[in-house]
Amino acid sequence: MQVELGNATKKLWVIGDPVLHSRSPAIQNAMIAALGLDYIYLCQPVPRGEAGRWLDLAAWAGYAGFNATMPHKEDLAALVDELDPVAARCGAVNTVCLRQGRSYGYNTDGAGFLRALEDELGVDAAGRRVVLLGSGGAAKAVAAALAGVGAHVTVCNRTQAKAQALCAMDSAHLTPAGLETDVLCKLCEGADLLINCTSLGMAGTGGEFADLSFVDALPAPAAVCDAIYAPAETALLRRARQGGHPAMNGLGMLVWQAVLALKHFTGVDFDEQRAKAAALAAL
Ligand code: NAP
Repeated sequence: MQVELGNATKKLWVIGDPVLHSRSPAIQNAMIAALGLDYIYLCQPVPRGEAGRWLDLAAWAGYAGFNATMPHKEDLAALVDELDPVAARCGAVNTVCLRQGRSYGYNTDGAGFLRALEDELGVDAAGRRVVLLGSGGAAKAVAAALAGVGAHVTVCNRTQAKAQALCAMDSAHLTPAGLETDVLCKLCEGADLLINCTSLGMAGTGGEFADLSFVDALPAPAAVCDAIYAPAETALLRRARQGGHPAMNGLGMLVWQAVLALKHFTGVDFDEQRAKAAALAAL
């Protein structure tokens, strides 16, 4: 399906450094075409430290908004005129809307994860006991969303100081811990949900978990999620499925964060399942 271009077609972008590998243009243009919206979504490399100049340019040019990926998400939290409470809590912005010369920052990564969890596994995270691995950007967004719905989350990270800093955003719901196998085994025994937001298992660069025995410590109905979508099945997910646990990869999170971003950009109450289907077809 093609995006129809007119002189008044509104422009959306994804910025990052690097960004040319991004799947966002394919996903967003597929949704835009399927929903018949008068937008086009483009890709713009913006060097580290230049998000402020891009923001000024985008506002001046009258663009409708943009998504941001590494390394701009944290910088934009300090640069936008208004920050949504979720983005403020995790200190990172992945979606900027430009309206009447003002910029509004949102973070749809965490909400996208929660939507994927409900959509794919039928799991409502409210009140659940969660073991979350990692304390980087993805973990921060997922932790903020989980805390927001009242889940009790233990955040386990190799660098414990980063887990401690992350948990300071909501110490009533978030508790820091290490990533040692014995620690993970103990925590998994009492968990409803295990989520990997480290890069361990990611194709190419991530490295692998040296010991996955903590997965076997989970109670039978516990669900397992991996933020990674390449490969589609990590060793962690394979182990979880072998143990009979419901499991999902990061593709749903990727798609749902895009659906929610497009809602912010357009303000249109479109059919989300239709948008999701178009995005998945484009992938
Ligand atoms: P990041 O900010 O660089 O964080 C990386 C995390 O992985 C940190 O917690 C880091 O621990 C940990 N880690 C890296 N190498 C490790 C190792 N050898 N042993 C133990 N821990 C290690 O990255 P991110 O943006 O959060 O992304 C994390 C993963 O989520 C990536 O695989 C990415 O593809 C995925 N992701 C998916 C989506 C989606 O939409 N599905 C969105 C964003 C990210 P330290 O703090 O100790 O370094």
